[in-house]
Amino acid sequence: MEITTNPRGKFSIQIKYVLTVSISDYYYMVLREEWGFPSFSSECPICGGSNCCVRIGYYYRYVLSLEEEILLLIPIARYLCKRKNKPKIEDKTFSLLPDCLIPYMQPTIDTLMQVIGNKLIKKKTNEEIVSLFYYQIYEVKLNISSSTLRNYYELFEQTAQKIKTFLREREKDDYPEQVLHSLIDVYWYLSEFQDPQYGKGPGSCSLWYHESLGGYRNNAYFLFGTPSQFRY
Ligand SMILES: [Zn+2]
Repeated sequence: MEITTNPRGKFSIQIKYVLTVSISDYYYMVLREEWGFPSFSSECPICGGSNCCVRIGYYYRYVLSLEEEILLLIPIARYLCKRKNKPKIEDKTFSLLPDCLIPYMQPTIDTLMQVIGNKLIKKKTNEEIVSLFYYQIYEVKLNISSSTLRNYYELFEQTAQKIKTFLREREKDDYPEQVLHSLIDVYWYLSEFQDPQYGKGPGSCSLWYHESLGGYRNNAYFLFGTPSQFRY
């Protein structure tokens, strides 16, 4: 069950925010007010105007990370567009979602991949995977069950469809690409992804996918999960 305290109104978009530190470092730096958020003073992501958007605080959402052994309520910065330019879209606010996170899901991309690896490669049962979480994370609010895992598998299947379609489209543009058939193919493709600009691993593949489709300026899809702008 997804727990989120996002109080956003009807019109808000989520923008991928590239972190160069771990999610727990981000968390502690924001809490200590040591984190410098971008001002977007030269270009508002919503209307393109200069000196337009202002930061209006945070919403909080849970982040579950096996690699960092945490379940934390993470602050997500929100901004308001003051309409300096005539916007192309209705949204009035946007938020910066750290790039290792998945919209409306607790696990980080790496944690989701660990779950999928345990399921598809190591052939672990749901019960074994659930106990892995309880073994690694000591947090009373941790609430993982087989049905949580089924949501994760469903999300991964959607991700697999997106990357397969994307690679097929690129192939038409004469990029020689690996053809992915099974979910296991997709798992290995994401795990072994490497790009000189975006780096290694599933999170890097997710950024590469998003940016190749034009990023927030082009209202691009996320490879993992569905951000608020695509939920109606
Ligand atoms: Zn604006």
